[in-house]
Amino acid sequence: MKKKLILINLLSMITVFAISQQKEGDPKLTEIWKPVPKVVAPGRTSSDAPSDAIVLFAGTNAEAWQNKDGKAFNWKVADNIMTVVPHAGDVQTKQGFGDCQLHIEWRTPAEVAGEGQGRGNSGIFLMGRYELQVLDSYNNSTYSNGQAGSVYKQHIPLANVCRPPGQWQTYDIVFTAPQFYEDSSLKSPARMTVFQNGVLVQNNVALWGAMQFIGVPKYQKHGSKEPIVLQDHNNAVSYRNIWVRAL
Ligand code: MG
Repeated sequence: MKKKLILINLLSMITVFAISQQKEGDPKLTEIWKPVPKVVAPGRTSSDAPSDAIVLFAGTNAEAWQNKDGKAFNWKVADNIMTVVPHAGDVQTKQGFGDCQLHIEWRTPAEVAGEGQGRGNSGIFLMGRYELQVLDSYNNSTYSNGQAGSVYKQHIPLANVCRPPGQWQTYDIVFTAPQFYEDSSLKSPARMTVFQNGVLVQNNVALWGAMQFIGVPKYQKHGSKEPIVLQDHNNAVSYRNIWVRAL
């Protein structure tokens, strides 16, 4: 009888303890209901532009682009693809962008010519200055911080996930613009996260400054929105399905 009483007491104590614990740990206290994220309709596949994207090139026209010197776009557009015309010069978006998510597909020439930096070289310059390298890095040795997936001469990619020349490849980029103080000094650096063909190659790296071919990169204050530039490096690199989401 005494044992039974002790057991009942023990059980009721456990029940009271459990209830008090539940009250202290009210799950509603940590629920956040506002703001409600905006609804964005995704593309049919993750390569297709979602509903809130600005389409920069869908295949039929290159109206969102111009030559970097301000003249009309002068690369080749055919078969839903735009291709570098060697010596035509860099091209840039008419619109400027700061923080953004950029999807872009690229292809280096199927016919392999040249080596190292001379093989399928182009580049994507966020804000016209911060270069994500485009290169045929499939069985093509060069300096690691200059191969495909590198932030040119700054950050080596985490992996070489290049497809063979002539095949389409994707970059999905998350770019954070640098911030500057009134006196033009740097408040926070630019940052880049990049997936190449779905594989992480740059993980939120902090950039050292604008792309610098010779010497040490440095920052120089610029606008909060600047064009996206595609490089003419005298190789017939092609691009397609380009869209961007301002963040
Ligand atoms: Mg380049």
